[in-house]
Amino acid sequence: MSPTRVLVLNSGSSSVKYQLLDMRDSSRLAMGLVERIGEETSRLRHTPLGTGGETREWSGPIADHEAALKAVSEELAKDGLGLDSPELAAIGHRVVHGGKSFTEPTVIDDAVLAEIERLIPVAPLHNPANLTGIRTARALRPDLPQVAVFDTAFHTTMPESAARYAIDVKTADEHRIRRYGFHGTSHAYVSRATAELLGKAPEEVNVIVLHLGNGASASAVRGGRCVDTSMGLTPLEGLVMGTRSGDMDPAVIFHLMRVGGMSTDEIDTLLNKKSGLIGLCGDNDMREIRRRVDEGDEEAQLAFDIYIHRLKKYIGAYYAVLGRVDAVAFTAGVGENASPVREAAVAGLEELGLAVDRELNAVRSDEPRLISPARTRVAVAVVPTDEELEIATQTYALVGR
Ligand code: AMP
Repeated sequence: MSPTRVLVLNSGSSSVKYQLLDMRDSSRLAMGLVERIGEETSRLRHTPLGTGGETREWSGPIADHEAALKAVSEELAKDGLGLDSPELAAIGHRVVHGGKSFTEPTVIDDAVLAEIERLIPVAPLHNPANLTGIRTARALRPDLPQVAVFDTAFHTTMPESAARYAIDVKTADEHRIRRYGFHGTSHAYVSRATAELLGKAPEEVNVIVLHLGNGASASAVRGGRCVDTSMGLTPLEGLVMGTRSGDMDPAVIFHLMRVGGMSTDEIDTLLNKKSGLIGLCGDNDMREIRRRVDEGDEEAQLAFDIYIHRLKKYIGAYYAVLGRVDAVAFTAGVGENASPVREAAVAGLEELGLAVDRELNAVRSDEPRLISPARTRVAVAVVPTDEELEIATQTYALVGR
């Protein structure tokens, strides 16, 4: 029988997240995480899922990504699922930035690696780590097909009117400055799953997807194709996020340099790591913010209000971009769990055909579900995202059988 398992790898600069799936039934066999690679106190957390085994944790020095992947393979091997298993069909890698070059999942060869490397200037934080993961996995299993699934790919269908910034064209082209968008795997998965929830084909529906996690982005999807998204050249643009500012007058940066005397790196850290919810109220976890709001904490209330105001502006903007909206879908950590965020985001939008049913909104579930009252014009849905399954599905579609 041909191999049916896919290992999904998400390699960060000092971490590797992984899941092993069996594509016969899309079941998860194992998942885990290696953190703090390169430190004395690296940590591996592995959960076997098919066998009902317990989570195993291990701490100690893991020098680099190669050592991390070997440790992962050893953990998998304890349950007969190691990287050398003949059942393994492919490895699917999450790659953050595919630029304009990669519009689809791509089987990795030397030319593909070179192109991902060429894109490092537009994704200096992410692509080097993704490349390290790919190179390490290729060295361990050179015979195995490896597939790159790009965070940007789903957004390559955006028209130029949405993808271009209104800056000097020559400068933009020289430095490849345009809006690429991110979280594409999630937006693709959720927009399709929303169509399914409505009992329609993706081609038939227009959906606004709100991916609200620690990072957050919105997308406007017309008939299964992305026509606009809120993240841009980097994942900093758009919604208020856990630690990122989202949209802002770019002149704030000149002001911080000229008047605040801050360096480029300091501003980069300020806007990416110390802004958004954490900058506004000291917490980036929506659970904690809601707890504080319920206690009457004004700082947390203002942070929540700013978060919701921005979200609502994007719902309105994408409503106008799409012209007709069939569904608004909430997903990711905040979108799937925080009912007050969902309620507040669509409050007052009844004239646009948007409303949330309080009881339906309060239901907790892992299943895709509608939370709008019957007979409203636009369906409001909660659709749990599953980026690993989407990466595995796309990988297997390319190399399986
Ligand atoms: P993600 O990046 O998709 O993993 O989302 C992580 C974020 O989801 C966390 O930072 C929390 O703010 C949020 N989150 C997770 N669970 C809940 C919950 N039960 N209620 C509110 N927010 C939650």
